[in-house]
Amino acid sequence: MTLSSDTIAVDSDTAPPADGCHAGEGVMRDAAQKAGKTAQLEQYDKDYPKGPHDQPQSMCPAFGSLRVGLRMRRTATILSGSACCVYGLTFTSHFYGAKRTVGYVPFDSESLVTGKLFEDIREAVHDIADPDQYDAVVVINLCVPTASGVPLDLLPTEINGVRIIGIDVPGFGVPTHAEAKDVLAGAMLRYARGEVQAGPVARPAVVETDVPTVAMVGEIFPVDAITIGRMIQPMGVKAGPVVPTREWRELYAALDCSAVAMLHPFYTATAREFTAAGRPLLGSAPVGVEGTKDWLAHLGDVLNLPKKRIDAAINAQLAAIRGVLKENPIDARITLSGYEGSELIVARLLIESGANVRYVGTACAKSDWSAHDCEWLESHGVSVQFRASLEDDLYAMDTFKPDIAIGTTPVVQKAKERSIPSLYFTNLISARPLMGVAGAGSLAEVINTAIAGRDRFKRMETFFAGVGTGTKTGIWTPQIISRSGMGEAG
Ligand code: SF4
Repeated sequence: MTLSSDTIAVDSDTAPPADGCHAGEGVMRDAAQKAGKTAQLEQYDKDYPKGPHDQPQSMCPAFGSLRVGLRMRRTATILSGSACCVYGLTFTSHFYGAKRTVGYVPFDSESLVTGKLFEDIREAVHDIADPDQYDAVVVINLCVPTASGVPLDLLPTEINGVRIIGIDVPGFGVPTHAEAKDVLAGAMLRYARGEVQAGPVARPAVVETDVPTVAMVGEIFPVDAITIGRMIQPMGVKAGPVVPTREWRELYAALDCSAVAMLHPFYTATAREFTAAGRPLLGSAPVGVEGTKDWLAHLGDVLNLPKKRIDAAINAQLAAIRGVLKENPIDARITLSGYEGSELIVARLLIESGANVRYVGTACAKSDWSAHDCEWLESHGVSVQFRASLEDDLYAMDTFKPDIAIGTTPVVQKAKERSIPSLYFTNLISARPLMGVAGAGSLAEVINTAIAGRDRFKRMETFFAGVGTGTKTGIWTPQIISRSGMGEAG
């Protein structure tokens, strides 16, 4: 392919180093700003405020956007970035069960600097935009193309009726993969809102007439959406779509809601679109007795419902939740950390189950929709750390000496080294029902089973004592021992 007259070239003086993450955030941001991405980066700074820790130690943020695109029916997702990044991202997405192909537009120094990469992306988008197969094509700029200013906003917005959505998701602009989910969910809602404003749109598959609906924001466990639907039924309200949605038309139904439940509180761009559509938002989630009571009362107020109907919904839930919590107690001191954004509501549920939760660390920033949960936890003696670093989480584990540490992979690894039972938050805790009655008993079994394994950890620690440290590291032959004057033959 040859370069056309409208090729957009990158200024070679401002082209970023091709070593991505390893070039350092400052270098990449500087290059991106020189390449015309200042406004986008400033918006990310506002949406995803950093500090006290700038970049929580989590996986490549772009995974969040990739995952949202791959879970959506009739949606093609194309990555533009370094081959090593794309390898890692596709590996992770398929590890997490994605059954779709990930598109990739490769580049080299020449195609990056001459602007041919943009042309290649445009060609790829034209090739794939088949309305019989797709409603939307998502193109994700990773670090190097973002820092080079590859202008995805100049792609056509639509080809043969297929929507084209280009987003920049650089690790130096979007702090966590959780927030990267919001980047794509927000961009899709913005597009859908524009379509609604422009005229009639396709009818959502499930349409409820004259019934107020509540759109739910967050990648919640599927049963949670059903549970919430049952909970709000006595109020004369139905559960609407969950955002990120599974298909394009659900975006219209979501925008058509009467209220938005920000179950995961970090979806800032998504919230902005709902607010622009005139929809009221509420934070927190219906977890445990107090959480469910507060949430249902708040929802009733937001929808201006009669007190009788709100009380009916609350009364139908609380006794059952209380009963299940009582039957599934957790008697343990716990520290908890993660990067999914649902850490605070999980901690609330643990406390209502009887646990002594001392610390909650989340990689996400504080927002209006997590403020109530934060206050509730602090009033129960919990130390809450937003934008928590690995060091914060480990310090909490050392300080509070928990019976079980729930955390990210490195936290779990450290806990095991210290014979502390531990559970990985993402796979073993956040991927469970949490809401209402279904959520009430879902954590106790996995946590109590892990705690019961403590003696096994102690036996293993005794058995392996010293292995892998000091002179028990590597192979110590008699020659090495005599030469170094230390060690012992294995
Ligand atoms: S795209 Fe992800 S893996 Fe690649 S350089 Fe950026 S943060 Fe690192």
